[in-house]
Amino acid sequence: MESKSKSTNENVGRCFLVGAGPGDLGLVTLRAKECIEQADVIVYDHLANPEMLSWARDDAEIIYVGKRAGEHALGQEKINVLLVERARAGKQVVRLKGGDPFVFGRGAEEASAIVDAGIEFEIVPGITSAIAGPAYAGIPVTHRAENSHVTFFTGHEDPEKTGSPIDYAALAKLGGTQVMLMGVQRLESIAREMLKQGVREDLPVALVRWATTGRQETLTGTLQNIAQRVAGVGFEAPAVAVFGEVVALRESLNWYEKRPLSGKRIVVTRTRKQAGELSAQLRALGAYVFELPTIRIEPPGDLRAFAELVQDAHSYDWIVFTSANGVEAFFEIFFKLYDDGREIGGARIAAIGPATAQRVKDFHLHVDLQPDEFVAEAVVSEFQRQGGVENLRILLVRAEKARDVLAKQLSALGAIVDEGLAYRTVPETRDTTGARRHLLEEGADLITFTSSSTVENFLTLGLPWPEGMQVASIGPITSKTARDHGLKIEIEARRHDIGGLVEAIREFFEKGKGHG
Ligand code: SAH
Repeated sequence: MESKSKSTNENVGRCFLVGAGPGDLGLVTLRAKECIEQADVIVYDHLANPEMLSWARDDAEIIYVGKRAGEHALGQEKINVLLVERARAGKQVVRLKGGDPFVFGRGAEEASAIVDAGIEFEIVPGITSAIAGPAYAGIPVTHRAENSHVTFFTGHEDPEKTGSPIDYAALAKLGGTQVMLMGVQRLESIAREMLKQGVREDLPVALVRWATTGRQETLTGTLQNIAQRVAGVGFEAPAVAVFGEVVALRESLNWYEKRPLSGKRIVVTRTRKQAGELSAQLRALGAYVFELPTIRIEPPGDLRAFAELVQDAHSYDWIVFTSANGVEAFFEIFFKLYDDGREIGGARIAAIGPATAQRVKDFHLHVDLQPDEFVAEAVVSEFQRQGGVENLRILLVRAEKARDVLAKQLSALGAIVDEGLAYRTVPETRDTTGARRHLLEEGADLITFTSSSTVENFLTLGLPWPEGMQVASIGPITSKTARDHGLKIEIEARRHDIGGLVEAIREFFEKGKGHG
């Protein structure tokens, strides 16, 4: 990786104070993503969405310094020391902070400690929850007709304590939109103080918790009743509170909480590399997705044997790909051996399933035969329709330990079949993003399986099954594997690709059959 050689060549440690945005992965800046991809060390806390750690290098040191149930945060002083120490050792250190690093949350103190230690640093601003939180609840912090200034204040300090740094009398006089961070616990005394200073009782107030994530919830009320409502429903931090006329605009502008999969917690079990598309499509519909890869793609046991077959690719009549992984593994080697796509010669290409075919097309090659389903009979009959396979040389590119029915059936019809074992799937043992812990603590509404191996590997992890978690499967073969393991399938895609799966999930929840 380019970044890696860069960081090892220059032995100057640096510290990047990076805003992780409010939660939604799409709200992370391009610069933040670059920093994460290049980091030697990443120090993050509990408001930074851990999914973004999947962008980190495999060998990056990842350190959690936030508060976790029952545990205490690494003290601020210790965090400062940690950053300085790692940077002094020549590391590229990314300090990942929720929202914007300089909006509350002690980023300024960390920057000072870094500067005092004489370490080079960079600040990467982020989208603050103070603005994004309201926006995702349909509340613009300004409106020409309502206000011409916005105040951000911390609710961390108790207004009833003497020496509170916040001048509530001045705030009351100022009016406009006021956004409070860190204040859920003290909301009652803060609201009381505002009323005492003459703010009107029916001023609209909204609280947005876990804003911009799939767990987002919004509670609205007035200055008079908001604290009571918070207590009534047990509304908890982290939340942003907005005080002001603009809150009323939510009635027409609320958008995020109205999407088809809003509030649904969905587990994606594909490999890290492949999860992206499914996750993105589900997120776009409002789901709270967490990726829990159970498998990883590794080179096959005998890479040399596979490479030799790839080298002879041009000598086959057909090359049959059974999965997108196979296509990738094949061309990775092919383009190491050859620098011209035409070296594939006259070999025709068959790709099973639309995702496999798409991957072939990505390499600008034509797919000559595209059976839709990976059912050996279906593939064979497609070949028969094209004039049979007798005496044809076929290279079947597949995973180690995959089903070999297809090779047998093609051979039985007189084809000369070579099986290229292109890759193997191994259990994913790491949990960089804390997704497993998350599943145990927060539960889920739905788990998605996109192949038999995702089912088997998920079950191999031996995690307790969260209450009420339903199952969505990409097609009959995956469903059968799941049923064989005693799972009940609530959703099965009619079209056996990612788009088809997402469509089925959407229909399912729209019909209101889902829990929660
Ligand atoms: N630097 C951060 C704020 C850190 S202070 C930022 O710019 O957003 C921590 C407070 O931020 C929390 O107590 C809460 O009030 C707010 N906060 C951060 N992320 C939030 C989120 N996703 N939803 C609601 N509030 C959030």
